This record gives sequence, C-alpha cells and structure tokens, in this order.
Amino acid sequence: MLELKALSKTYKTGDKALSEVSFAIPAGQVVGLIGPSGAGKSTLIRCINRLVEPSSGSVLLGDTDLTRLNGRALRQARRRIGMIFQEYALVERLTVMENVLSGRLGYVSGWRSFLRRYPQDDIDLAFKLLEQVGLGDHFNKRADALSGGQRQRVGIARALEQNPELLLVDEPTASLDPKTSRQIMRLIQSMCRERNLPAIINIHDVMLAQNFTDRIIGLRSGEVVFDGAPDALTDDV
Ligand code: ADP
Ligand code: ADP
Repeated sequence: MLELKALSKTYKTGDKALSEVSFAIPAGQVVGLIGPSGAGKSTLIRCINRLVEPSSGSVLLGDTDLTRLNGRALRQARRRIGMIFQEYALVERLTVMENVLSGRLGYVSGWRSFLRRYPQDDIDLAFKLLEQVGLGDHFNKRADALSGGQRQRVGIARALEQNPELLLVDEPTASLDPKTSRQIMRLIQSMCRERNLPAIINIHDVMLAQNFTDRIIGLRSGEVVFDGAPDALTDDV
C-alpha cells in the first residue's frame, strides 16, 4: 500500500507543481492519474521514486517513509517500485529475455553475458511473465526487432520481474495506436489485479483511464480536483 501525506513540491524556479497532495492506494488498486499538461502528474510520479526531491510531506510505501531515505537505503527502496515508461526504455540491442532479467537488478546492464549470472528462479519467472504478456515465443529476439506494443509488453514483464510492491506507469500508451493502447492498459490492469499490486498510471487519455483503471485522481495546478470511481468522472474535471 502507498500513502502520500500532504506532498508538496515547489521548484527552484518558483513553480508550485504540487500542493499538499494526500491519498492512499490499497493493494491491487489501479489508479489513473489525469489532468492537463502542467498539472503536476510527472512531478507526482517523480516525487514518489525521488527522482524529484519533494519540498514537504511524506510518501509511505508499506512502513517505509521514502522521503526520509538516502544513499543505499534509497536505492534498495527503489527496487520495491516497478517502473513502466512511455518510450519503453529497453536496451535495443539486447534480447527480450535479457531486458526482462535486467529488471531483477533494478538497473539496466549492457553486458551481454550477464545472463549467466542469473539464478534459475529469476529466469523461470522471466519465462512465466513473458508467457503472460504474450511474448513466450519471442524471448530470444532483440528488442529492436519488436513492434511498439511488443516493446511495452517487455516493459511490463521487466517491471514485474522485480517483484515490486508498487507500479509507477508514465504515459504507457502515448506512443501506441488506439487498439494496442487498449490491449496494453487491459494487460497492466489484469497483471496488477492478479498480484494484488497497487499502481499509479499517469495517463493523458481520459477514456482509457475510465475503461481500464479502478479509480481516477484528477490533478489541476498541483491540487487534487477529483478522486473517485471512473464512472463518477464528469466533464468539468
Ligand atoms: P504534468 O506532468 O502534469 O504535465 P509537470 O509535473 O511536468 O506536469 O509540471 C508541473 C509544473 O511544474 C509545471 O508548471 C511545470 O512547468 C513545472 N515543472 C516541471 N518540472 C520542472 C522543473 N524541472 N523545473 C521547474 N519547473 C518544473
Ligand atoms: P513530460 O512529457 O514528462 O510532461 P515535459 O516536456 O513537461 O515532460 O518536461 C520535460 C523535462 O523538462 C522534464 O524533466 C521536466 O521536469 C522538465 N521541465 C518541465 N517544465 C519545466 C520548467 N518550467 N522548467 C524547467 N524544467 C522543466
């Protein structure tokens, strides 16, 4: 479970990007984060994994206050958070399997022979995940031979290979066509439900958010202006 308590961020430039944002996400809930450009969605995601330093407030992942960690403890805590990106962030010249296994370390290695260092359990999990995302037959293909939708499936498998406690997803469908976008959103939602994994999906497309999340949080000028069931969302959010 994730809990944000009065999380605020003012950039050095004076831009107030987040203003006392508070909410909790229980296990297994998939939250769609929506709002116009500049609303603070990226800042919110980046404050959770501390790529951006919050100005005040706290971020609780289980019993850990992520805002109080530094150095090694922060790096270890980040491994508890799976990330999925708009542009997939795969290592193009490595295979699908190698990309998925890199999630195990929480960082991407360019060293091809690193596969040999992986315990069999990690490799078994990677195969299982690749089956689940529909890429079982493609494990030995290079990432640069895949379509956009297939790349994002690898991105999902890589994030889950980490056995995360939380999934942060930044515009996962922004580079995909409408049909593939729906497939990817459906996959993320079902994988989270199956694992009881909470997720925040930063998503521009309100229709996708309404169809494939369990709850919508609407941000505007750094404040929460909507928090509720997807079908309760009205046009003025
Ligand atoms: P969104 O993801 O919803 O488009 P952002 O979190 O990117 O919103 O931006 C929220 C506000 O913070 C905007 O006013 C933006 O200009 C500002 N902002 C974002 N990143 C930075 C930064 N690195 N330095 C200064 N201001 C920033
Ligand atoms: P995104 O697609 O994530 O919303 P943006 O185009 O808003 O990205 O921002 C790209 C980069 O520039 C990000 O790292 C963001 O933090 C930074 N940025 C955004 N707005 C500002 C700003 N007003 N001043 C400085 N940096 C900014």
